Amino acid sequence: MPRYAMVIDTRRCTGCHSCTIACKIHNELPVDVIYNPVVTKGPEGVFPHVHMEHLPLLCMHCANAPCVNACPTGASQQREDGIVFVEEAKCVGCKACLMACPYGARVFVPSKGVVQKCNFCLEQLELGKEPFCVRTCHQKARIFGDITDENSQVFQLVHKEGAEPLLPELDTEAHVIYIRGSEAKMP
Ligand code: SF4
Ligand code: SF4
Repeated sequence: MPRYAMVIDTRRCTGCHSCTIACKIHNELPVDVIYNPVVTKGPEGVFPHVHMEHLPLLCMHCANAPCVNACPTGASQQREDGIVFVEEAKCVGCKACLMACPYGARVFVPSKGVVQKCNFCLEQLELGKEPFCVRTCHQKARIFGDITDENSQVFQLVHKEGAEPLLPELDTEAHVIYIRGSEAKMP
C-alpha cells in the first residue's frame, strides 16, 4: 500500500498560480472556493540582496489529522494510502473540521452546505494519473508520489534535500513537505 505525499520545492515556484486555476477548473469549484492558494512572502531585504518566496498551500494530508478526529459524523475520513477526504453525503456543514484544521485547508461551500478540500485528485490517482496541480506546474515545483518507496522522487527529495512540513511542532505529521531556500534549483 503506498503512502501518498507531495513535495513542494519553493525554490522553483514562480507564483504563477497555474496550479490554483487548474484545481479550480478541473474540480469545478465555485468562484469563491480555492483549495490550493499560493501566498507570496516578500520581497524582503535591500537590493541586490532581495528575497521573495511563493508558498503553495493545500490540505497537508496529515497522518495525525485533527479534522478527522473533530468530525462528529464520520464524513471526514482517511484512506489507507493517507489521503484525507470528505464524504459529502455524511457532511452536515457544522464546520468542526474547519476549525480543527491548523492549516486553514478546508472551505465551507454555502451552495452545497458542506465542507470541501483538496483530496490529491483521488479520482485521477485511480486512473493512474497525478493530481492536476502537479501536472500543470511547468516549473516542476510540485512532486507527488509514494513516500514509502525509496526509489520515488518524493522519498529522495525528503531525505536528500531536507524537506520539512509546515508547522512541524503541531505533530500533525503533514504529508505535504516543503523545500525552502533562496537558491533556485532547476531540474
Ligand atoms: Fe508555483 Fe507551479 Fe503553482 Fe506556478 S504552477 S504557482 S510555479 S507551484
Ligand atoms: Fe485535515 Fe487540515 Fe491536515 Fe488537511 S491539513 S488533513 S484538512 S488537519
